[in-house]
Formats: sequence, C-alpha cells, structure tokens
Amino acid sequence: MPELPEVETLCRQLKRKTIGKKIIKNRVFDNKLTAVKNFKDKKIINVERRGKTIVIVLDDGRSILIHLRMTGRLLWQIDAAVPKYARWKMTLDDGEVFLVDPRRFATLKVMPTTLKESEREIFGDFDLQKFVERHGRRKTKVKSLIMDQNVVNGIGNIYACEILHRAGIHPAREAATLTKDDWNRIFVQARSVLTKAISKRGTSISDWRDLYGRKGENQNELTCYGKADNACPFCGKPICRVKQSGRGTYFCRTCQK
Ligand SMILES: [Zn+2]
Repeated sequence: MPELPEVETLCRQLKRKTIGKKIIKNRVFDNKLTAVKNFKDKKIINVERRGKTIVIVLDDGRSILIHLRMTGRLLWQIDAAVPKYARWKMTLDDGEVFLVDPRRFATLKVMPTTLKESEREIFGDFDLQKFVERHGRRKTKVKSLIMDQNVVNGIGNIYACEILHRAGIHPAREAATLTKDDWNRIFVQARSVLTKAISKRGTSISDWRDLYGRKGENQNELTCYGKADNACPFCGKPICRVKQSGRGTYFCRTCQK
C-alpha cells in the first residue's frame, strides 16, 4: 500500500508533468467514478500531497483528490494503449495520466479547493509540544499511534517499523510511557526515514511503481522491515517479527526498548 514517500514521489513527478497544462480530455472507465467530470479546458495550477491524498488543484476553484488505497497507481503514458485495469484518465497536450487499479478501492473525488491542513503533517511546522499534549498520555501502542492517520499523516506499516527501529523504541510501548525525548527521537527519525524514502522514489517490496512505471529504490535502505532473522545492522542480533494489531511488525529486541 502506498505510504507518504510513494505518494510524495507521485506528487513531485505529477507536478513536473502537469502544472500549467490544460486538461484536454477526461475519461472515466469505471462507473464507480461517475462524479468525475467537467474538467475539459481546466488548467492544473498545483499538485500537492495531503497525508496520503494526491490533490490536483484546478484553476476553477476545484481540486481532484486521489487516494490510492491498496492497489491504485498513477501512470504517465504517451501515445500508448489503455493499460489493463485503467479506471480513469486525463489527457494533457503531451501525454496522459491514468489511474490504474486492479482492486478498484482507490477513490477519486472532486471538491472545492481548501487550504492545506497541516496539523497532522510531520514536515513543515509540526509542533512536538502540541503533539505530546494531545497524544502523550494515551494507552495506545506507539506503533499503532503513529500509523493512525487521524494523528499523523502518511506513515504505514513499513515506515513505522523503520522509524521505531532507528529511534530505539519498542513498537509495543504504550504512548503514555514515552518521554518527550523519546517522541523527539521518533519524529527526527520519521522525517529522516521519509525524506530518504522520497529521494529513493519509495519502497518497491510488492507492487509500488512510480508515475513512469519504475520501481522505487528505498527497499535497499530498510534496516528491519521484512528482515526477520537477519542481523540487525546496529547490533548484529537477529531481527524479530511479531504480529501487532494484525500487522507484521519487525524490530530488534536489543536496540528497541
Ligand atoms: Zn539491534
């Protein structure tokens, strides 16, 4: 499932391909997406990420909001056949952007453009003090908390494991047991892990591909996710795998307390 770095990768690539261009044609292949219309001759003035949502801002006061969910992908093509599982496309003067999605869970909505909501964003003006005041006394396990999209935007299972491994925090720790210093380490690592993953165009462990159909390269940067029984790069002891809240959770018993 695409997480923040994958969605940010798509947004950056879309920005370069689409800003300032007019939508020449809009075509829906899936009747679940019928509300998506009247884009002809609208100009794309911005592309931004809000959490894991891709927001394509048009010059008529509306935005196209795309959430890829499980298997959604965006694909840039020039003069090529409609790809399998295409659900929607918009045609620009020099190419086409397809929403491709075998399981049809991705959502595409058209909404009036609103200002960027930044409270849950961990980049920019994230306020650690406020975060600790709001969530620091909760009994929720820290890994579940940082994966909750109502708390923090964009972190899913892979990056939650990676962030906590580097921060030295056990994934099953209750939020209420963490100190301000612990939280600080978590968010420093979160920004570092996610920034790296964006620069590598995301993690292609299963089916993630970027706008041009290429794999990302961040899978080579992982220190614990998917590495059960491999040596921890920090201490040499084997990485453990447990199930926590139904998700495969990887961590190091020595490094994470
Ligand atoms: Zn270790």
